[in-house]
Amino acid sequence: MVTSTVDKTVFRASCPRCRASFELAADAFLLKIGATVATTSYSFTCPDCGEPVRKPAGERIVELLTGGGVRVLRLQAVAEG
Ligand SMILES: [Zn+2]
Repeated sequence: MVTSTVDKTVFRASCPRCRASFELAADAFLLKIGATVATTSYSFTCPDCGEPVRKPAGERIVELLTGGGVRVLRLQAVAEG
């Protein structure tokens, strides 16, 4: 999934809408880490059709993305409700 080059890390991704497959730089992604795996996801915008894509991020994906310099947004845990 990860391809390292001299200058930057890019990640392979695909769009569920137009089925395009492409490589995006780390800064094209946003990783949201929630209290559980169910609320942890990463998102990016398809360069082909502009679809905002959001996918679940397991532990391994989180490691890869954070290691590649992707921005991380830590969601606050909901303690009450
Ligand atoms: Zn697309």
